[in-house]
Amino acid sequence: MATHLVWFRHDLRVTDNRALFAACEDADAQVIAVYIATPEQWRAHEMAPRQASFIYQHLAALQLALAERGIPLYYQQCALFADSVDWLQRFIRQQGVDALFYNNQVEINEVQRDAALDRALPAQVRVHRFDDSLLLPPGSVTTGDGNMYKVYTPFRRAFLQRLSESDTRSLPAPAVRGNGQQPPLVALQPFDYPQQESQGDFPIGEEAARARLRRFCRENVGDYLAQRDLPAVDGTSSLSPYLAIGVLSPRQCFNRLRTECPDVLERTDGGAFGWLNELIWREFYRHLLVAWPALCKHRPFVAWTDGVRWRHAPQDLLAWQQGKTGYPIVDAAMRQLNATGWMHNRLRMIVASFLVKDLLIDWRLGESYFMSQLLDGDLAANNGGWQWGASTGTDAAPYFRIFNPTTQGERFDPQGHFIKTWLPELVEVPEKAIHQPHRWAEKQRRMLDYPLPIIDHAVARKDTLAAFEAAKQRA
Ligand code: FAD
Repeated sequence: MATHLVWFRHDLRVTDNRALFAACEDADAQVIAVYIATPEQWRAHEMAPRQASFIYQHLAALQLALAERGIPLYYQQCALFADSVDWLQRFIRQQGVDALFYNNQVEINEVQRDAALDRALPAQVRVHRFDDSLLLPPGSVTTGDGNMYKVYTPFRRAFLQRLSESDTRSLPAPAVRGNGQQPPLVALQPFDYPQQESQGDFPIGEEAARARLRRFCRENVGDYLAQRDLPAVDGTSSLSPYLAIGVLSPRQCFNRLRTECPDVLERTDGGAFGWLNELIWREFYRHLLVAWPALCKHRPFVAWTDGVRWRHAPQDLLAWQQGKTGYPIVDAAMRQLNATGWMHNRLRMIVASFLVKDLLIDWRLGESYFMSQLLDGDLAANNGGWQWGASTGTDAAPYFRIFNPTTQGERFDPQGHFIKTWLPELVEVPEKAIHQPHRWAEKQRRMLDYPLPIIDHAVARKDTLAAFEAAKQRA
């Protein structure tokens, strides 16, 4: 009997999983699955302990879902990717595997690991790879001369054209195999990695993720454009943690959106299209990572920005990390991140701009701090977001566009509801003073248990412009 092995990575689901579905197509084959945790590799990339816990909890759910279909999940810890290649070779030999199935990952270390395994496997083991983490595979949306787009809008135009010609149907979960007998559920040894629960509302399991998707597309997507920038409102999907580790697929998102909003591709001014647009940003950044693998090594896309003389300011960095800068919208956002591992997109843009353009601290320190905290940590989206905010990326904000953290707060959290949720020390401050509490405290002769602004925005803005201009001239 043939033995098919499915290697799960960042695709922790049984529904709409191309590799799993393909492995199960031969009804006579024995199908087994494996997951390999690589804690040392995670450490090197500062993966957030709460994302590791999220993966761990989803592994248990995956094990159960696979067992119900007659598929055992094997589980192994290897320190680094190189060890996982060695272990997998041995496992494939021991189990008599004749075909290996997996879904591609886009990051350079993962691509190199897979290439090393391919080289190491004997010819009789067939390897079946699938592009599953995106609506359209990397490299499939290109300019007329076959290159990756550097600007988002034309990419989106070409993307939508390709999408309308592509088969994006979701696949069902595989049927129960054999006589329906379930393999035993072996207790999964905890990862050799710090564990941390998120205080956010992110229930475990594919069902929970799909239920959230259905609810969002039915009830919220119509208001998406009006609400997506307001952190005090639950106006976005909060699906990123599930998409990041593949508990949910982008096809499932797109198909559910089309079911609820059949005219999504025609009504480009509606909330549904607005939401699809964000899913396409996700695609854009992943396609970019494949076209320019140096992004995985945190190189700026715009080379001259490497010459910016960043400040070495560990105390300011710490104040930013801890949410103690004296700018309430920045601090509330950072405290939300530290507690839940999730942060609203508008706030990610504000805090990134503050770190880079107010504190003039290297964007890579912000990028890695985000990774160490985010439940939805994703190299492509995080690097893309940081390079956008730092004006070092492709199609990024121009370097002279510098958010004013006070007016951003006034605009997007006018009553300070979000701020007061995360900064209880400001609860007494009246609405109209919430974005500059130190001024209010001074007038009222009150002592607040809240820091004074660590930097003067107007001065910082000038310094940053000068630092970028100097780097540009030196290049
Ligand atoms: P929704 O608004 O509901 O969007 C739906 C989905 O589209 C998201 O779940 C996400 O998968 C994708 N998406 C939305 N916006 C973007 C975007 N700008 N770029 C890429 N994909 C997007 N997103 C991550 O998933 N992981 C990260 O590590 C990450 N780091 C970021 C860092 C910075 C500095 C910035 C500015 C943005 C970052 N983003 C990241 C993108 C975005 O902020 C989050 O995807 C979004 O806030 C998640 O909330 P949601 O699921 O409610 O999004």
